[in-house]
Amino acid sequence: MNKVVIRTESLCKSFGKLDVLKNISTEIHQGEVVAILGPSGSGKSTFLRCMNLLERPTKGKVYFHDVEITNPKVNIGKVRQQLVMVFQHFNLFPHLTVMQNVTYAPMKVKGLNQQLAENKGLELLTKVGLAEKADVYPSKLSGGQKQRVAIARALAMEPEMILFDEPTSALDPEMVKDVLLVMQALAQTGITMAIVTHEMGFAREVASRIMFLDQGTLAEDTTPGEFFHNPQCDRAQQFLDKML
Ligand code: ADP
Ligand code: MG
Repeated sequence: MNKVVIRTESLCKSFGKLDVLKNISTEIHQGEVVAILGPSGSGKSTFLRCMNLLERPTKGKVYFHDVEITNPKVNIGKVRQQLVMVFQHFNLFPHLTVMQNVTYAPMKVKGLNQQLAENKGLELLTKVGLAEKADVYPSKLSGGQKQRVAIARALAMEPEMILFDEPTSALDPEMVKDVLLVMQALAQTGITMAIVTHEMGFAREVASRIMFLDQGTLAEDTTPGEFFHNPQCDRAQQFLDKML
């Protein structure tokens, strides 16, 4: 097994009286592509957001490599450079061009000079098929193009792991495939990925591991083959009956 990138230990998250995550203990290893599945409201986004502390757990611990990042002394900004998030609604900077979106953090946070940042930016935009859009503003892009820019922007930080929260849910159906193809290519590079998704075909073909959340518990944690052909819990079976 490769080394552990993320480890959660008895992770719990509540919002007021609502217990959203209940005692999740797991490890994600380098190079794993984990699809996080489950019904709406089961805690998938909260779980993902706890991994880089966009949500602070109510109880339990989160480790990034050997560092307990739930320790308030940890510089979480630094950790988030390594654990970047791609959101459902892209969250691009509307007042910056595509290239500026991609080079902003490497220049600002990593101190890269503009030339280097743009060289790298162009390489990444080429990878996601959008080199020719470098100088346009996000408002001129389709949803699928915006999401591919968001992925290029995430990659520009050379992160250890990317957290995707329903990256294709806000897209028109004809845009979904382009984004999934980019993600599939990314998965093959060996970068560690955790992806909340309702794209069952993608989860089955691209993920190396399936986590199924049911009402805040990690109800299944297994291979795609096992999950899709022989789910262990009734809730997973019901979920699949609806989705497939
Ligand atoms: P999923 O991503 O699986 O749809 P979420 O993690 O977004 O589920 O939400 C799980 C539950 O937590 C839902 O009942 C949701 O309403 C609630 N929840 C999520 N975020 C907050 C918040 N910031 N404040 C209060 N309740 C929240
Ligand atoms: Mg969600």
